[in-house]
Amino acid sequence: TALPRAAFIVRRAPGQTSAPELPPSGHFINGAFVPGASADLLDVFNPSTGAVLASVAAGTAADVDTAVAAAVAAQASWGGTTPRERSEVLHRIADIIEANRAVFERLEAANTGKPGAVAEDDVSSTIDTFRFMAGACRTLTSLAGGDYAPGHTSVILREPVGVVGVITPWNYPLLMAAWKLAPILAAGNSVVLKPSEQTPLSTLKLAELVAGQIPDGILNVVTGQGRTVGQRLSEHPDIALVALTGSVASGQAVAGTAARSVKRVHLELGGKAPVVVFPDADLATAAAGVRNAGYWNAGQDCGAACRVLVHESVAEEFTRLLAEEVGTLVLGAPDAGDDVEIGPMISRQHFERVKEALAEAKAAGLRTVVGGSALDGPGYFIEPTVIADVPTGAPIASHEIFGPVVTVESFASTEEAVKRANETPYGLSASVWTKDSGLSFSVPKQLDFGTVWVNAHLVLANEVPWGGFKGSGYGRDLSLYALDDYSRTKHVMVNHGA
Ligand code: NAD
Repeated sequence: TALPRAAFIVRRAPGQTSAPELPPSGHFINGAFVPGASADLLDVFNPSTGAVLASVAAGTAADVDTAVAAAVAAQASWGGTTPRERSEVLHRIADIIEANRAVFERLEAANTGKPGAVAEDDVSSTIDTFRFMAGACRTLTSLAGGDYAPGHTSVILREPVGVVGVITPWNYPLLMAAWKLAPILAAGNSVVLKPSEQTPLSTLKLAELVAGQIPDGILNVVTGQGRTVGQRLSEHPDIALVALTGSVASGQAVAGTAARSVKRVHLELGGKAPVVVFPDADLATAAAGVRNAGYWNAGQDCGAACRVLVHESVAEEFTRLLAEEVGTLVLGAPDAGDDVEIGPMISRQHFERVKEALAEAKAAGLRTVVGGSALDGPGYFIEPTVIADVPTGAPIASHEIFGPVVTVESFASTEEAVKRANETPYGLSASVWTKDSGLSFSVPKQLDFGTVWVNAHLVLANEVPWGGFKGSGYGRDLSLYALDDYSRTKHVMVNHGA
C-alpha cells in the first residue's frame, strides 16, 4: 500500500550564526599551546554551510614525540598521586566545562552541525563522565590480598599503564574525548590525544580552559591526520596503550601497528544496530523510539537504531507508524531554530557516501517511504529516510551508513529474528521490543551485541559499560570496567620468614 510522502519540516540557517569562541591554534603540550614542527595547516569546516570555520596545525610524528616526552615526565608524579587527588582534578575539569557550557555547545554545533539539543546533551553527559570517574577512582585501588602459599602473603595492586594514546572520532568530539580522558586520568595515566581532523575545536578549547588548572603534561593534544599523528601514536615505544573510537578500518590499522610494539589496544568501532520488534510490542512506542534513536545526531551514531527487523504480521502497521513519526522531524542548521532535530552530514565526502548508498537502494528498487534525497546546498543535509520491505542482505541494511537512514525488514519467527539480527560483522548494540517477559530475557541472551536494550534504544549512563563484540572492537568505555581497561594488575608476594 502506498504511504503518503511525509513532509518533514526543513529550516535553513537565517544567517545569524553566533560566532563560536575558537581555541588558540597549535598543539597543547605540557600545559601550553605550541606551534607544530611543520607550518602546514588543516581547514576545519562548518558542515551546515560548507564554509571554513578555522584552521589547525597539521601535526607530524615529531609533534607526537614531543608530546609523549612531556606525558612520560608528567606521569611519574601523576601516577603517584592518591585517588583523592586525582578525583579533585577530575572534578575541576568538570567544573570548568560546566562553567563554559555555552562555549562548548556553540563550538560543537558549529563544527559538527548538530542541533542545540544534541550539543547540550553532549556537554551534560561529558560533565557527568568526569564526575562519575572522579568518584569511581576512589572506590577501588587495589584488591585485598590473601595467603595463597604457605608463609607468604599476596597483595594485588592496580597500577596505571603509563602513557595512553587516544584517537577520537568526529561524531561526538567532546564526549568521546571525555569517555577516554576521564578513566585514563582517574587511573593515574597521562594522555596524548589526537582529535578527529574534522572536529578538533572543542578538544582544543578544553585544553585551553584547563591549562594551569591541572598538572602540566598529563593531558596533551596533538591535532592532525590519522595516517600521521594517529599512526605515530600507535607505534610510539613509550606509549603503553592506544585507545581509538572510530571506524573498523582505522581500528585494524591501529591494532596492526600497535602489535609491533606489543602495545595494549582499546577499540570502540562501528555498529549497525538491529531493532527487533515482536508482534506483541507496543508498536507506537517502538516507532517513537526509532524516531529518536535512529535519527539522533542525524544517525551519525555508532549505536543508531538503523536496522529494524519487525514481525511480518505487524510490518505494514509498524512501517506506517514509523513513517508518520519520521515525517514530524525538523531538519536544519543548529542556528535555524530551537526545534531543529536533525543537522547535516559531517563533510562533503560523507554526504556523497550517504547519497551513493541511497542511490544504490533506489536502483535496486527498494521502497522509500520517507525522504530518500539530499537537500540542495549550502550544507550537507540528507532527508530523514525510511526504506521498507528490505530483503535480507541488501547492502543498505548491512553496511554502516552513518546517516539519517532506517531500513525495515520483516521476519517470521523468533529464531529467524535472532539469526538475522546476528548476521552482521558488527556487535555493538541492539534493541528488542516486546511486552513478553520471557522474550525480554531470552532474546537479549542470544544476541551477539555488547549492549542490548529492551523497549528502549540508545539510553546510556556512566555507571554501565559501553563497547562492542566482533567487528565493533573490544574494551569498554564508561563504568568501572573502563577504569580496569586503563590499569595494569601487579601481584606482590611477601615471604613472612625472609
Ligand atoms: P575514522 O575511523 O575515520 O576516524 C576516527 C579517528 O581515527 C580520527 O581521529 C582519524 O584521524 C583516526 N584515524 C584514521 N585512520 C587512522 C590510522 N590509520 N591510524 C590511526 N588513526 C587513524 O572514524 P570517524 O569517521 O571519525 O567516526 C565514525 C566512526 O566511528 C563510525 O564507524 C562509528 O561507528 C565509530 N564510532 C564508534 C563509537 C563506539 O563507541 N563504538 C562511538 C562513536 C563513533
